[in-house]
Amino acid sequence: MADVFSNIFGQPKVSEFLRRSTASDSISQSYLFLGPAGSNKTQAAYALACAYICADGDCKKGGDGIPSATCETCKQVLAHKHPDVKYYEPQGQSGYLIDQMHEIIHDSGLMPVQGDKKVYIIDRVDLMGTSPANAFLKTLEEPNPNTCFILLGRNSTSVLPTIRSRCVIVPFRQIPPDEAVRIIMANSVADERKARIALAASGSSITAAIKMLTPGDNTGLYLREQIMRLIFESLRSNWAVLKTAREILKLIKAPTDEYRAKMEEELALADEFLSKTAKKEINTQNKRGLKRQEKKLMGMVFDCIVSIMHDVMMVLAGEPAHVVNYDFANEIATLSARTSQQKMVAALDGVLAAKKCITYNVSPESLIDSALFELKGAQE
Ligand SMILES: [Zn+2]
Repeated sequence: MADVFSNIFGQPKVSEFLRRSTASDSISQSYLFLGPAGSNKTQAAYALACAYICADGDCKKGGDGIPSATCETCKQVLAHKHPDVKYYEPQGQSGYLIDQMHEIIHDSGLMPVQGDKKVYIIDRVDLMGTSPANAFLKTLEEPNPNTCFILLGRNSTSVLPTIRSRCVIVPFRQIPPDEAVRIIMANSVADERKARIALAASGSSITAAIKMLTPGDNTGLYLREQIMRLIFESLRSNWAVLKTAREILKLIKAPTDEYRAKMEEELALADEFLSKTAKKEINTQNKRGLKRQEKKLMGMVFDCIVSIMHDVMMVLAGEPAHVVNYDFANEIATLSARTSQQKMVAALDGVLAAKKCITYNVSPESLIDSALFELKGAQE
């Protein structure tokens, strides 16, 4: 039967391990999920959060105390809207700030707002330097009762040993692209070509690709198509770069505005049922959610640019059958005729460097400008 762990796509061993821990009532208080980008660690973290805090007998009726994610608590957790399940990511230029760690430590000492347990999902712990990590160690070593820390990191060597040694380590595998495409097809109505496009436009995240293919998703394939069109338009002149960068920003602002309006509406509707603390919590979470949404859409712009560059390199390598963005095949062929592998590789480095800055406080417009200039520069 489908349970809350069934949606950790492409990670059967992880699902099984978390299922067993839940069934034997041995969920630990500190985990470290280790795996590359796009390996579904975040999805798994929220599923584990459900298993940790869900106290609904009906929801767990299916078997072994594993939630089916049908209760309100689980739904809230999976929608990233539960006031006691908190997500953090680095706010500093090179990683976590010490103030952020103090905030987490302080917060973990407070009572839960809604239920009787709390979960902290702390992303990119590979970007937690020695000082922030030292501040956090004691909390991680002796967490308050009824608190679970789920740390997410890209690879073992970049996570400090002092952090690693205090956690149950759960390794996530790199999901091969062909398998990812099959999973996407099985969980959406997309054919293979569309599944490949969605995977490329969502930075290899299966979960994001499936969401993108959901009918009615305003950040889906239609938005990708408009972004792609503007990217190709930008190649005409330097002036076109500046103009299209602004248009792309406008495009991605629309779904963010919609997202903000929806959150405000939901909060207003729930107003009379919520305590003051719960409202404050949800507000903070909403603000973080909004930041993540903005970042995700910026990521999509960059993933589109990168996927165009990969396609051009495929054409130049004599492998046109591997072009992912088949609906822009003509544009890709034109661009390929005007550049070389060498120029494209150099430009890709520049684009990836700009992409890395999305997390930091750099103006999104200047990041898009610089990525488009790299791509345009490669054809001269
Ligand atoms: Zn539940």
